Amino acid sequence: MPEGVRNDRYVAIAARIAGDDNRVRLVLDFERKPDFTLSYLENPFRVIVDLPETVFAFPDDALQPRGLISSVRYGMSGAGRARMVFEFASPARMELVETTEEAGGAIHRLVLDAVAVDREAFSAQVAKSVWTDAAVDATNGKPDDASGDTLTIVIDAGHGGIDGGAEGPSGSMEKDVTLAFAEAFKSALEAEDGIRVAMTRTDDAFLSLSARVRKAREERADLLISLHADSINIKSLRGATVYTLSDRASDAVAQSLADQENSGDAIVGASLENAPEAIATILVDLARTETRVFSAGLAQQVLNSFEGQVKLINNPLRHAGFKVLQAPDVPSVLVEMGYLSNHEDEKLLTDDEWRQNTARLLAQSVQNYRKTILAGRR
Ligand SMILES: [Zn+2]
Repeated sequence: MPEGVRNDRYVAIAARIAGDDNRVRLVLDFERKPDFTLSYLENPFRVIVDLPETVFAFPDDALQPRGLISSVRYGMSGAGRARMVFEFASPARMELVETTEEAGGAIHRLVLDAVAVDREAFSAQVAKSVWTDAAVDATNGKPDDASGDTLTIVIDAGHGGIDGGAEGPSGSMEKDVTLAFAEAFKSALEAEDGIRVAMTRTDDAFLSLSARVRKAREERADLLISLHADSINIKSLRGATVYTLSDRASDAVAQSLADQENSGDAIVGASLENAPEAIATILVDLARTETRVFSAGLAQQVLNSFEGQVKLINNPLRHAGFKVLQAPDVPSVLVEMGYLSNHEDEKLLTDDEWRQNTARLLAQSVQNYRKTILAGRR
C-alpha cells in the first residue's frame, strides 16, 4: 500500500475499568466507530478484542486490572491488526457489548460488561466464540445467536481509485463496472434469508489485495466473492468465468500465516495460539484444504445458476493464483462477469437490466451454497 494511505488507523483515546469480583465494565473510547471482533480463550480465561490497526493513545495506567479482570495486554498483533487481551480471575461472560456515540458523535464508546459465570458456561462460549459487532446488532445485544445459520458474504468490487482495471472499447472502466455490480449483488443478497453482507469497498477507493483479504478475515466471512470484468487480447472472447485459487499458489502463504499466528492471530480458533510452529502450519494447511473444497462448491453453484441464463466462456470453471483468493480460512471465488475487451460484453456489463438479472442469479447461487452447507452441518 502506498505511503500516506494509512490514515485508516483507529485511535483509542481513553479507557477505563470499573467493578468488582462479580462484574466489571470495560470502557474504550475511539475517535470513530470501532470495527471489532470478540472471542474467548481458555487456560487462562480470556476475552480477546481484535481491532484493525489501532493507536492506543490513552495513558499506560488507564487500564489497571481490578475485580474480575486480572490482567490487561494490548498492542499490534500483526500487519494492520491490533488486539486487546483481558484475562479474567475466574470464568466470565460478556453480558453487554455495545457501541454508543458520546459528545455529539466526537467519541465512539465501546462498552463491555463482564459477569462471573461457571466454568461450563465459559467453555460453551469458547466453543462458539466469535461475536462481531454486526452479530450483536442483529441479536440486540444477546451473544447466544451470534453464529447460527447466517452466512457472512464479503463482496469485493475489483480495482478502484488509481487502479482503474480494464477499459472497454467505449471507455467503460472496470472499477466502475465492478462497483455497480457489487451494489446490485448486495441488494440481491440482502433479499435472501440468512445472509449478512459486507463490502470491501463502497466507493471509488484504492485497496490493496491484502487489504481485501484482511477485510474478509476481519468480517469472519463465510465467503469472499471478488468481482471483475477484465480485458483479454482475444477480442472475440466473451462470457463469464469463475475462478478458484490454483494449487500452484505458493506455500509461502501457509508459512507466513503460521508465522503470524505465533504472534497472536487466530485462524482456526483458540487452539492455535500456543501451538508450536509445525502444528500451526498443519492447521493452516487443513484450513486451506477445507477452504478449497468449499470454494469449489460455491464455484459450481455459480455456474449452475448461470447455465443457460448468462453467457459463459468455454471451460468456465478455471483456476489461477489470484492473491485476493488466498485467505486460507475464507472460501473465495473470483467471478469474471465478462470481458470489457469484447464489445458485446461491454454493452451487457454496463446494462442495468443485465446487471440486476445476473446479480439475482449470483445471489441465488450463494443461497443454494448456504443450503448445502447447512445440510452438511446437521
Ligand atoms: Zn480485474
